[in-house]
Amino acid sequence: MNILVINAGSSSLKYQLMDPDTGVVTAKGLCERIGLDGKLTHKALSKGTKVEKDIPMPTHKEAIEAVMNILVDGEYGVIGSVDEIDAVGHRVLHGGDKFVESCIVTEDCKQAIRECIPLGPLHNPANLMGIEACEKAMPGKPQVAVFDTAFHMTMPPKAYRYAIPTKYYTDDHLRRYGFHGTSHRFVSKRCIELMGGVENAHRVIVCHLGNGSSLSAVKDGKCQDTSMGLSPLAGVPMGTRSGDIDACVVQFIMNKYGMSADECLTMLNKKSGVLALSDGVSSDFRDLDAAAAQGNEAAQLALDKFAYEVRKYIGAYAAALGGVDCIVFTAGVGENSGSMRASICDGLEYLGVKLDAEKNKLRGEEVVISTSDSKVKVWVIPTNEELMIAQDTAELTK
Ligand code: AMP
Repeated sequence: MNILVINAGSSSLKYQLMDPDTGVVTAKGLCERIGLDGKLTHKALSKGTKVEKDIPMPTHKEAIEAVMNILVDGEYGVIGSVDEIDAVGHRVLHGGDKFVESCIVTEDCKQAIRECIPLGPLHNPANLMGIEACEKAMPGKPQVAVFDTAFHMTMPPKAYRYAIPTKYYTDDHLRRYGFHGTSHRFVSKRCIELMGGVENAHRVIVCHLGNGSSLSAVKDGKCQDTSMGLSPLAGVPMGTRSGDIDACVVQFIMNKYGMSADECLTMLNKKSGVLALSDGVSSDFRDLDAAAAQGNEAAQLALDKFAYEVRKYIGAYAAALGGVDCIVFTAGVGENSGSMRASICDGLEYLGVKLDAEKNKLRGEEVVISTSDSKVKVWVIPTNEELMIAQDTAELTK
């Protein structure tokens, strides 16, 4: 089976063609500079070839057409015709409280995604453009929308409601939604499988730590709480995002520096996080590790603050779940940085967490990094959101 997985941004579009049963990716690539000029980078993994092409892409429609053409290209293609694509799965950022799971794209589904634009103003319009471009390029091809928010829709009101007047919830839908849901779902499901069933993994804390980071508390496979909120700005500090912050900081900065709310939010989204704490060294944890090793105190503070805040969330979620059976690390930092994992777990001994220093050196593979007598099993499980999207798409369209 061939599923085309699409992640459309405002000026870019990533794609992967994969078999949802084996997870084998035959081709993947990226369309960039949509609306400006247009560039396609394509890798035919099954052939071991790569190509870059300048192709005019005034809209997402031309980008999708370029993807279709390269997938069937004599030299760089991996399929004989577009008919060999069984269905298309789209990553969609915000499903609001309308979508508790993935769904087949229909007019109603598109309308609901449109209604969520105020909640995901940057991503949802781009996600819709990707869907509509596929409808034009491949009329009648089944399409599925997979939402970043859906996995978190099992949270109880005490976790998702903000303690502000009710009308902002009832009239304006302001509440905690949470993001990275496809990753949290993939990783928690995989953890439960690897543990031999939910009876051995009732209470799982997933730490998705990358450029953007979020944690989730998962009980019996269902999300109970998550660190991001109405938007992906909330939770732990990230590459360039501040994470949780007292709202009065925003008021103070706006008043003192004459900034608008939008300008202030841009600062909190793009110029904050470990980038800011390290006094501009980097938003990339590898650069921070290197700078800290050379004695840069600001870089060290950024690393310490990140580890501290993640550890605090783990403590909070252990309390929320009434204990913890498994802690899972995933995404760029979680999968690759043994030193960050060690720093986060340092101080969690009281919970029953004992890391194995040798196993913790492993990276990028499914592995238990706790000692055999650790009460809590600590896992590294590489995330694969595209595979989850492909599997949902196959399931819903078969
Ligand atoms: P992601 O957003 O999941 O792609 O993660 C990207 C982040 O992972 C980058 O910003 C890096 O800081 C981090 N990362 C990747 N490899 C390593 C590594 N070996 N050590 C520390 N951080 C890493």
